[in-house]
Amino acid sequence: MNLSTLSASLHAPGTTKASPSDVRRSNRALIFSLLFPSGSMSRAELGRRTGLSRVAVSDVVGDMLAEGLIRESGLEHTPGKGKRGTLLAVDTERLRIVSVDLSQAHLVQGAVTNLLGAEVRRAERTLDYANHVTIETIGELIEGLIEDDTVIGIGVAAPGVVSDGVVKRSTVLDWRDVDIKTPLERRFGIPVSVDNDATCDMLTERFYGQGGPNLMFVRVQRGIGAGVLINDVPVTGERHAGGEIGHIALDPDGPACPCGKRGCLETLISESALRRRMEGLDAAGRCTVLRRAGAYLAQALAMPVGLLDMADVCVYGPPDIVNDDFIDAAQEYMDRATGSSFHAPTTVRRCQCGGDITLRGESIAVVRDHLERL
Ligand SMILES: [Zn+2]
Repeated sequence: MNLSTLSASLHAPGTTKASPSDVRRSNRALIFSLLFPSGSMSRAELGRRTGLSRVAVSDVVGDMLAEGLIRESGLEHTPGKGKRGTLLAVDTERLRIVSVDLSQAHLVQGAVTNLLGAEVRRAERTLDYANHVTIETIGELIEGLIEDDTVIGIGVAAPGVVSDGVVKRSTVLDWRDVDIKTPLERRFGIPVSVDNDATCDMLTERFYGQGGPNLMFVRVQRGIGAGVLINDVPVTGERHAGGEIGHIALDPDGPACPCGKRGCLETLISESALRRRMEGLDAAGRCTVLRRAGAYLAQALAMPVGLLDMADVCVYGPPDIVNDDFIDAAQEYMDRATGSSFHAPTTVRRCQCGGDITLRGESIAVVRDHLERL
């Protein structure tokens, strides 16, 4: 994955002349993206890969070393003659990120991570059953996590439609137009990023999992969220609601949904809906419920998969819900719906990333946003 593609995607292509600080910012993002997450290269190699001059590379590298983004990590292993170059890698020691995950039921989780999303410290707040998440809850959690001035950014991953630091709409959180960015930046004086939770998960799958540059990612939990990555650019849509597929009605005779429609995907395959449906059933009964859910998901995704020619569908969810029965049934339906003699099959697979997938993805988003600032 290329972080600079990711950050470039945040900007509309402009025709105006780039200012020196624009050039500097894009050189910095370009160089950092070659080292993130696990690259290791000399200045000369960075110059060859980016096409930047030796002076430009050395200038940008010098700044990033001083800032704590990268470090010198040893000497090149080039057998034979000549002076061996010093290798550069992402610095995991000096700078920190605070990530908060609002996607869990009855729980707000937060973590301090390094630049690679590895957890240094964790904190969480349990909520009462009816207790809504408030900015105050999030603020208190963050307060307890920040210990010093090494934190370069705070990231909040939220279920729902997110735009410019505001959660425009979240049925799961029961929020409408909740500005997260402004009050938290005012309180902590640190830049705040806010991102959709499924998009965060997709970033983790791309950088630390098995995802390639073209990926359809679906999250089956309290709600159903999806993310689409095309040529390493996350597609969020004109109104930032891309991937919000939970309230697309799939079955007009299906269960009534709080949104007013019937048979929304969320009523058919969300974790809570499936757990309710499986209550008291034996193993065979549970298997039938989960197979039907897998087929529903594939039914919903077959059209966008065909439309965008996606070869990889990755599903994240609780292991006892998104299990082999669920995935096998989804794969069978997908094959029946999209397979043809001129079309390679699309793989439906389970995400192997662990429980910190959202916090980790949010840390990637914070790094991305940090590189945008100069
Ligand atoms: Zn609905």
